[in-house]
Amino acid sequence: MINPYEVALRQLNDAAEILDLELFFRKKLQHMERSLAVSIPIRMDDGSVEIFEGYRIQHSTVRGPGKGGIRYDENVNMDELKALAMWMTWKTALLKLPLGGAKGGICVNPKKLSQGELERLTRRFTVEILNVIGPDIDIPAPDVNTNSQTMAWMMDTYSMQKGRTIPGVVTGKPVEIGGSLGRDRATGMGLFYIIQKLVEKLNLNFNSMSIIVQGFGKVGTVIAEELEEVGCKVIGVSDSTIGLYREAGLNTQELIAFKKNGGSFVNYDNDSVQKIDNREILTKRCDILIPAAKENEITKENADQIDCKIILEGANGPTTPNADEILNAKNIIVVPDILANSGGVLVSYFEYIQDINAYFWDMDRINEELQKVLLKAFEEVYHLSQDKSISLRTAAYLIAVSETSKAIQLRGLYP
Ligand code: NAD
Repeated sequence: MINPYEVALRQLNDAAEILDLELFFRKKLQHMERSLAVSIPIRMDDGSVEIFEGYRIQHSTVRGPGKGGIRYDENVNMDELKALAMWMTWKTALLKLPLGGAKGGICVNPKKLSQGELERLTRRFTVEILNVIGPDIDIPAPDVNTNSQTMAWMMDTYSMQKGRTIPGVVTGKPVEIGGSLGRDRATGMGLFYIIQKLVEKLNLNFNSMSIIVQGFGKVGTVIAEELEEVGCKVIGVSDSTIGLYREAGLNTQELIAFKKNGGSFVNYDNDSVQKIDNREILTKRCDILIPAAKENEITKENADQIDCKIILEGANGPTTPNADEILNAKNIIVVPDILANSGGVLVSYFEYIQDINAYFWDMDRINEELQKVLLKAFEEVYHLSQDKSISLRTAAYLIAVSETSKAIQLRGLYP
């Protein structure tokens, strides 16, 4: 098993080496500022009591309040969340947002819980982490297996405890209670704006490009839909059960509707579509491969078999450093997670400032600001990678790590 925290440390250390970063900054950035583990007892529908493990981790708040999602997954653990929190620090620094990096989650298979049980779990978890979250402390958002309803329960529980409505405690809320227009599609839209710019720079054309999307959730469905709209052909998709493949192209809209109705691809019935293992789908030939599921999917074991021009990282940490070396040698361009999927945290930031100001933007303004900030970060990363002949990932890390180190230096060491 590859430990995501070790992957995150290796990425940090590689960047620190190139930057010749002082030991103090390296040490500071290798450690989490705060790691909280809580137990969450809840009454199940049958009257019994179950206890779940939950966590909230803040990697760095040197540039502003912590920011990062809440994940519900059976495999959630401290080291996974430490890595995810660190990646959030780099993401917010790369976009120059006045925010830090955090992440949280509960070790649970949410599919086994009823809606009532999920609500009680979310509310009790929120109370358990109450003192370490808040609009100027740390602001959670949705991640794998959580959504706007989860955020609505968190916001309500926090507000009830504080005696007043505090929408800015979480982002990714429903629009009716202080959410932002466009947040639900923001990560996928961000991926789209970035790949659009990259394709333009490489003098390629979307028309008839083939796409494979691993993970067909909040992120994967949106990027698949957007790319299909501009003429790409979605030839492969997968969820946690199985992969679906059709060289002539899949019916993306039908698959999105199938998932929205709670379907699993293993039960998808269509004679013209081939069912294959959900790891095998990664190695099918395509132009753009989009991992949008979880960490450590492209490793040194399968990197050699990856057969695409571009990897667009929708997920956080899908590619290990060892795999990166192999992909670089094969001239596969990897658009790194901390840049590629940062549209999500960017619109979360917009939601947060809209909540604080109690003034809400229209969709045109959201889209305009999203493209402006994201493409500025992309240009900075792209030019550095061209100037220094380094990968987009290395360039993104150099910018993010030095930005964060500068903040540490300016603030100094307390006391
Ligand atoms: P989600 O829960 O909506 O969807 C996850 C999808 O991945 C589901 O379709 C699930 O079935 C599938 N999946 C799980 N394991 C799989 C496997 N082994 N093979 C293939 N598919 C698998 O989650 P999401 O919000 O879309 O997040 C996906 C990834 O994107 C995560 O890495 C997350 O951290 C990252 N991300 C999400 C956001 C966001 O705004 N939601 C922002 C930035 C990054």
